[in-house]
Amino acid sequence: MSNEKNYSPDILIVGAGIAGATIAAGLRKKGYSIVQIENSKSNLDTARGDHLGPRVVEVLDKWDILKYFFDAGAEKRLGAKWFNSNGELIHHSSVDDLPIPFPYFIILNHELIASVSLNLALNESKYNYKLLRPVSLDKIVIAKETHGGVKEVIVSNQKKEKITIKPKLTIACDGRSSRFRSACGFKVSKSYNYTKPFVVLFGPKGELKDPRNEIINYISPVGGVSRIPRMGGQWKIGLAIEKEDISTWKKSSLEERRNLIAKRSEQLMNIETEVAGFYPVIRREADSWVKGNTVLIGDASHTIHPARGQGMNFGIRCAAKLLDFLPEPQDMHNIELVINCLKEFEFSEKPIVDKQLEENHKYGLYTDTSFSSRFSEEIPHLEFLNKNIEANFRYRMTMAGYADRLS
Ligand SMILES: Cc1cc2nc3c(=O)[nH]c(=O)nc-3n(C[C@H](O)[C@H](O)[C@H](O)COP(=O)(O)OP(=O)(O)OC[C@H]3O[C@@H](n4cnc5c(N)ncnc54)[C@H](O)[C@@H]3O)c2cc1C
Repeated sequence: MSNEKNYSPDILIVGAGIAGATIAAGLRKKGYSIVQIENSKSNLDTARGDHLGPRVVEVLDKWDILKYFFDAGAEKRLGAKWFNSNGELIHHSSVDDLPIPFPYFIILNHELIASVSLNLALNESKYNYKLLRPVSLDKIVIAKETHGGVKEVIVSNQKKEKITIKPKLTIACDGRSSRFRSACGFKVSKSYNYTKPFVVLFGPKGELKDPRNEIINYISPVGGVSRIPRMGGQWKIGLAIEKEDISTWKKSSLEERRNLIAKRSEQLMNIETEVAGFYPVIRREADSWVKGNTVLIGDASHTIHPARGQGMNFGIRCAAKLLDFLPEPQDMHNIELVINCLKEFEFSEKPIVDKQLEENHKYGLYTDTSFSSRFSEEIPHLEFLNKNIEANFRYRMTMAGYADRLS
């Protein structure tokens, strides 16, 4: 067909969400030929997370992305504080005194994390990179010769032209309902639908004046609320709510939202909020990450309850490990080598991540059953951390993403 196009890249990246976009940028100086497909042309949803932890900041620096995030307005966050209903500080957890290379979180709007990364990929002069966007997926061909992985993908662009891609390796970052995961027959045994959806509320821009950008947790006898900074002095609140309350929140006036929030934390009864979005929460964890020449990364391989704020962080950390295991560009024609490298990646990383995912699921279940009481239940633990230097250190290192480096 005259309008048919063909690509045979070293690597096909599926999806240009946080995982796909940062991988595209992370690969830009490594000499591979890359095709990336993305089916949406709109920006990512800004409310889907904007905090990246110190361990991921280390990756971003290694990939020469970090300074561009700061150029785009990223800000540092140095810790979190917990107050009781009398306004007394119960606990302060900081990261800026930890013995790690980048002792801070960064805050950058979700859509900017992806767009800055994609722009780096698109503007790298010697990068053999093609972003096909928006395209719709017509067909995924799985074959014996790719050992159950992707042999060929056919997509259509907006002009209805068919584009055939025959990758040597596919990185599927197509999110929690991944079609590539299904097409390759990955099993998802750990599957759970949490009962409480999440509502995200935004406060007014420019209101926060804290140069440390700390998360403020307000604990009260009726529950608790975390005020989480966004860039530009804005802040947000994420709440687990009952499914049947979604319409109440959707229709709520400013005054009604004040009352709803006051039920959880009286300290915040006068704040101004707008509803940014509602999110059903699910657990989907693939039993394995690799099928032949195809690997799952990000939410496609494992979702994480948003109360934990770790989905992007885990996606980027796994991606960083994956990139360390890839064969050299000149060896990508060797499918056996490609498959072995992917298996080694899975072997080295999955057991560590699985352990943390199990913890996250426990936290998700806890959020489902005791969201309002969880804050006050945390008080004894926070008081313990105040007294025990070693436990305090371990807690802060874990929050910073360095749990696996603790002995
Ligand atoms: C309310 C909320 C708050 C959160 N807060 C945080 C936080 O603070 N920190 C944190 O680390 N995580 C947070 N998360 C989790 C985080 O948003 C996700 O883990 C992360 O965005 C997943 O990125 P991804 O690239 O794997 O998937 P996605 O972001 O879902 O991206 C997948 C991409 O693939 C594209 N796609 C899908 N199918 C196809 C196809 N067939 N062909 C081509 N393209 C396709 C989609 O259009 C999309 O762009 C939060 C989540 C929620 C809901």
